[in-house]
Amino acid sequence: MSKMIYLDHAATTKLLPEAAKAMEPYQEIYYGNPSTIYEFGEKSREAMEQARELIARSIHARPEEIYFTSGGTESDNWALKEAVHLYGRTHNGEKGHILTTPVEHHAILHTCNELEQMGCGVSFLKVDESGRVALHEVESVMQENTCVVSVMYANNEIGTMEPIDELGRMAKKHGLIFHTDAVQAYGHLPIHVQRDNIDMLSASAHKFGGPKGVGFLYIRSGINLPAFIHGGGQESSRRAGTENVPGIVGMGKAAELAHRRMHMERRKIKYLRDYLAYRILQEIPDVIMTGNRKYRLSNNASFCFKGITGEAAAILLDTQGICVSSGSACSTGSMEDSHVLKAIGIESEWAQGALRFTLGAENTKEEMAYTVEKVKMVIKDMRGNAR
Ligand code: PLP
Repeated sequence: MSKMIYLDHAATTKLLPEAAKAMEPYQEIYYGNPSTIYEFGEKSREAMEQARELIARSIHARPEEIYFTSGGTESDNWALKEAVHLYGRTHNGEKGHILTTPVEHHAILHTCNELEQMGCGVSFLKVDESGRVALHEVESVMQENTCVVSVMYANNEIGTMEPIDELGRMAKKHGLIFHTDAVQAYGHLPIHVQRDNIDMLSASAHKFGGPKGVGFLYIRSGINLPAFIHGGGQESSRRAGTENVPGIVGMGKAAELAHRRMHMERRKIKYLRDYLAYRILQEIPDVIMTGNRKYRLSNNASFCFKGITGEAAAILLDTQGICVSSGSACSTGSMEDSHVLKAIGIESEWAQGALRFTLGAENTKEEMAYTVEKVKMVIKDMRGNAR
């Protein structure tokens, strides 16, 4: 098998050909600035607004509640920094307090570090051994100045899904803004911001077949989140800068297809993931699967293999044409144990051997069977050499 086997869809996905096709005219033909008043610019504006409507509908929101950004990281930064800013504005400059979890992506955790440096409070809700947040913790950790609860929809490393509906209910009960980083969930799971009392939601196009460098932040109407980027009047003057029209159009197309295909694709991907996981757990000794078995993204199979390093295993699998990640894509290159695995209590001896396989709709059973054989070979060789 000489073809590459791509099993790192949590890191990024291939641009869907339909999305690429939809983008093309907005790069080459209708390149007008959407803020202009002539008809040529209106073409871009119309396409952008169509994408906004489509995305809004996909999460049961209104188009005016969708703000285009450069991706998940920017959306997360905006949500947290400006929620705290809003609190200061309405509370005589008092510093706000954030409730989050230790298993969030660095886009959240490093933003929280920065806000802590600026005098804001941050508390972490405990998670269980599968990474699920302990709900009762919200009330015990909450403070007088708590202004926002930010809990991810689904984890990028171990695939665990958080109890979003219950968190939303609890945040609403206490009058807190509820933000969720849905970067790994949007386009893969049905999301309902009304039903689940979600006030702000971050998503990123390149995780569901759209282009890189574009995403959105949903902000519920009535939440007067301050502007994040100042300049022109784009995005209702809350996020200035000429919009990435082709990117937004591509994201809209990818969102449409992801939602149309979601049900079928999830079923197929889950079947392949279960096959891969079953064989790895049956045929390789000293391995554990991390994350929740029940509340889990269908495409995620993450493991810890004792006695090896995940980094080295990923490099060896690469020589066999298999792309996998040894942890969060964004922290690849560092040999530190993953903060997620630490937070769920995985000892370093196991955490060092973390490998994450994230599947996509194009993967086949044949690829899974080949992958199992190569993983078996690589792990056996590494363990043999280590003796
Ligand atoms: N949040 C989560 C859960 C992610 O998995 C990622 C990317 O891996 C991000 C945020 C950052 O998104 P982006 O790459 O669009 O900045």
